[in-house]
Amino acid sequence: MTKANVHRIIPFSAVDGPGNRMVIFLQGCNFDCVYCHNPETIALCNHCAICLKACPSDALAWENGKVCWNEKLCHHCDSCIKACPHTSSPKVREMNIEDVISYMEKVKPFISGITVSGGECTLQIDFVKALFQRAKEMGLTTFLDTNGFVSQDAFIFLGDDMDMAMVDLKTWNKEAHRELTGKDNTLVLQSIRYLAEQHKLYEVRTVIVPGLLDNQQTVKMVSQLLSALDQNIRYKLIRFRPMGVREKAASLEDPSDILMEELSDIARNEGCKHVIVV
Ligand code: SF4
Ligand code: SF4
Repeated sequence: MTKANVHRIIPFSAVDGPGNRMVIFLQGCNFDCVYCHNPETIALCNHCAICLKACPSDALAWENGKVCWNEKLCHHCDSCIKACPHTSSPKVREMNIEDVISYMEKVKPFISGITVSGGECTLQIDFVKALFQRAKEMGLTTFLDTNGFVSQDAFIFLGDDMDMAMVDLKTWNKEAHRELTGKDNTLVLQSIRYLAEQHKLYEVRTVIVPGLLDNQQTVKMVSQLLSALDQNIRYKLIRFRPMGVREKAASLEDPSDILMEELSDIARNEGCKHVIVV
């Protein structure tokens, strides 16, 4: 039976693809971004038990050599996540397809589709494909939210079970990308090109972080690339927010309205027709 480590499921989202969507966040990531807003999605829990004492609600217990989470007792204060030294969470659940389908069935009348996100969801590609197949049988659309650091074979494997994808391009400069994420962006750019050629690239996203990245260069170069591939691909510019990030990124500042306006002008001037600033 195909299983996945699921970080959490959000029944309704209006920002993870078109329409109202259920979003399934899978645990585990192959990037380690300095500014990650959800660092607790990066690693798998190693059951070190350090977080046990941090829970004020007795929602965590030690059973059979593992930390077990009791959802009914949890009031989601995230004290456990703050206490975890391993960028993980004790609330990650191993779920099979039927577990997730039961969530989908409850909200199906109110959603247009599902988006599988992360972490980096393509690390659990067999589960993603099986889930997309079941979603399509239910008449739902299927979107992938990926960091793009994945071989083209993964997209070929998903085939038409995946409707479209959203890809992050964090910074254009390869060395800066390596410093930011731990990997360079060659594979990410290959993913963007391949998905666009297949007419499956819904959106590219860049988080704007003043003082850390050359935002102007990234927006200019990404916009040139997207307008050459297809001017209708959405380019979303996302303001960095210091909430929820690790200590080393907490002193970074969020961008001004003036900077966001300047960057959206650059994107439009380079030929992008759909520039979204959030
Ligand atoms: S969530 Fe973190 S602190 Fe808690 S048991 Fe797992 S690895 Fe240890
Ligand atoms: S979020 Fe973590 S610490 Fe807070 S109540 Fe739930 S299990 Fe306990």
